[in-house]
Amino acid sequence: MTQTSHPHLLKPLDLGFTTLRNRVIMGSMHTGLEDRFYNYPKLAEYFRERARGGVGLIVTGGISPNRQGWLLPLGGTLNSIFDVGNHRKVTTAVHEEGGKILMQILHSGRYGYQPFVVSASAKKSPISMFKPKALTQQGIQSTIRSYVRCAELAQKAGYDGVEIMGSEGYLLNQFLCARTNLRTDRWGGSIENRMRIAVEIVQQVRQAVGKNFILMYRHSILDLVEGGNSWDEVVQVAQALEKAGVTLFNTGVGWHEARIPTIVTSVPRAAFASVAARLKQAVSVPVVASNRINMPDEAEALIASGDVDMVSMARPFLADPEFVNKVAQGRSDEINTCIGCNQACLDHTFANKRASCLVNPRAAHETELVYQKTAAKKRVAVVGAGPAGLSAATVAAECGHDVTLFDSSDRIGGQFKVAMQVPGKEEFAQTLRYFGRRLETSGVRLVLNQRVTREQLAAQGFEVVIVATGIVPRKPAIAGIDHAKVVSYLDVLQRKVVLGKRVAIIGAGGIGFDVGEFLLHDPSIPLPVPLDHWCKEWGVDLQAQSNGGLVPAAPSQPYRQLYLLQRKSGKPGAGLGKTSGWVHRAVLQRNGVEMLAGVEYLNIDDGGLHISVNGTNRVLEVDHIVLCAGQVPLVELMPDAAAQAAMGAVKYHCIGGAALASELDAKRAILEGAVLAASL
Ligand code: FAD
Ligand code: NAP
Ligand code: SF4
Repeated sequence: MTQTSHPHLLKPLDLGFTTLRNRVIMGSMHTGLEDRFYNYPKLAEYFRERARGGVGLIVTGGISPNRQGWLLPLGGTLNSIFDVGNHRKVTTAVHEEGGKILMQILHSGRYGYQPFVVSASAKKSPISMFKPKALTQQGIQSTIRSYVRCAELAQKAGYDGVEIMGSEGYLLNQFLCARTNLRTDRWGGSIENRMRIAVEIVQQVRQAVGKNFILMYRHSILDLVEGGNSWDEVVQVAQALEKAGVTLFNTGVGWHEARIPTIVTSVPRAAFASVAARLKQAVSVPVVASNRINMPDEAEALIASGDVDMVSMARPFLADPEFVNKVAQGRSDEINTCIGCNQACLDHTFANKRASCLVNPRAAHETELVYQKTAAKKRVAVVGAGPAGLSAATVAAECGHDVTLFDSSDRIGGQFKVAMQVPGKEEFAQTLRYFGRRLETSGVRLVLNQRVTREQLAAQGFEVVIVATGIVPRKPAIAGIDHAKVVSYLDVLQRKVVLGKRVAIIGAGGIGFDVGEFLLHDPSIPLPVPLDHWCKEWGVDLQAQSNGGLVPAAPSQPYRQLYLLQRKSGKPGAGLGKTSGWVHRAVLQRNGVEMLAGVEYLNIDDGGLHISVNGTNRVLEVDHIVLCAGQVPLVELMPDAAAQAAMGAVKYHCIGGAALASELDAKRAILEGAVLAASL
């Protein structure tokens, strides 16, 4: 028998009528591919790679059982026999790789962003502009039939089962909680009535599909909203659903409208696993933990302790389709870890764009971004080991080129090294661990501590030079900008300066907000922030004594007095990520940061920062002023047209911040590096 460091995680799970090859589930994620029939071949390849990578059970993105349940207009629906052929492409691909796959049935209820929305009651959600119609009793019966029909069609399409989405505030959750269920008929009022729709769906689906079909129910174990369910109700619902025919419970935490983060990178790893463990005590079918589980060691510990039977990881499988195989082969250090940034997955979904992954731009683009072996090996120099250069160098080497990567620093990472100093961004270090290892496995020659010049590159005979030298921070033209109070964000985050208690930050972009969080962090609290501290800050009760798991927050005193400033009018932080920006804004607001828009910078002197806001002059009497005023490309290495012509066949390319500093982020940097390298 093979020795493995993660024996519990890799142990098969016998469900009686079928066996899952290990304890890892790839959780449901909407990629956008499931919404259009012509994208199903791409969707099939996306799932094929994940099944080949060894995951025990895959769950598709949410598929609606009818038109009212669409999340977006014309969203993926399975209510006709004509759709079965498309889904069969997916199930065939997964089965060919030895995997198993469930189709998630998701009715969005009042979260739908379309005009046909329905819910338990006519109560608009804060995250959709469409007010739902309350389902009539007849409408409820017809919705139940849609679920049953959808499950039957999924079975015809070859799925191994279905997951019924009962959490995150979608339709069934809307029926389950008094927050959104104001009905006075047999579908509202007592918990027995509120859970009736979920129980009938499970009962009738089970009856229709027979006993040898997996029926996983995603149960909301902590609603994290006012008017959420008590723990007793959570248990009562689970026990009724088990009796109705559930094979195993997946767990969900927090409604989408909750104002407590549940999956962004600053949420402690496996934060909610203890709640899933409590559910396991109350039911006799297997229970799955989910949310912010992204590393094999935590996953192994959860299974080994007996707390839960399986773990669900969703985004980690966008980041690395081979996650499980790497664990099984003792190559965990090669895992491309999901850093919880949401930038290319959820932020894309909410912008109605196809999902991908910041650290793995091939995700959901498997048939389009292909790293093929080259027939024309070239000598390639990549200058700059930030995200753009790391991506370009590793892909080029994997395609068969002879690659040397230079950086003037003593470590790889570029600005990512700085980003990972921000409290809550500790996961960014994993990306550098991953790239460090990938440089070794792909055979890239790494030369550190060398600031290269064009002459040096020419002398070494490179045929291709990729300039990935990044940026330099912008120094705005403000009177007194060279005053001793003024420091750069780089010096602050690299702890080269110690700042006073009153600080103004010039620039309220992503870096301004990050510097704010860095300066507000009390150094006596360890990083990453411990779970109990995080729960206090946000008001989360993991014991679920109170309805929805909410308790009054008990935040610590602000560590500094901060001002965050921008010239443009409008809300500071408006450009931050759709699914993470609100978290950053909430942290700064909670800490009393004064955020000012429409600021004119007048001058800096011993008195502090002199500004004018809407015509009124103010002096911010601060000890320090941190510049976070954007960046400009560092592009000194790029030849102009004449120099390029003089170099003959040697070809220079420019990527990442060096190519364009505005709107730069690591997502674009890594994508550009990969696309260029794959095309050399
Ligand atoms: P860089 O990361 O700047 O790397 C350039 C590299 O080139 C450096 O290592 C430098 O040493 C090297 N170099 C320069 N000149 C030479 C030379 N002549 N010879 C050799 N080496 C040279 N992005 C996100 O997407 N999400 C975030 O949450 C996020 N948070 C951030 C937080 C902070 C605090 C900061 C500072 C940045 C953050 N970013 C974030 C931005 C992200 O880090 C950058 O977009 C990304 O690093 C740009 O990558 P790059 O490879 O183009 O350049
Ligand atoms: P940014 O988001 O473009 O913000 C730059 C800030 O500087 C703006 O607030 C801008 O506002 C201000 N500014 C620009 N020119 C100025 C000038 N001449 N004088 C004074 N102020 C000026 O850039 P960033 O904060 O430097 O971040 C760099 C990149 O890293 C961003 O593109 C971002 O995507 C990425 N990043 C992302 C995250 C994330 O969480 N996703 C976090 C950090 C960084 P005004 O012009 O209105 O004053
Ligand atoms: Fe994870 Fe970010 Fe990739 Fe989404 S984009 S899967 S959060 S690393």
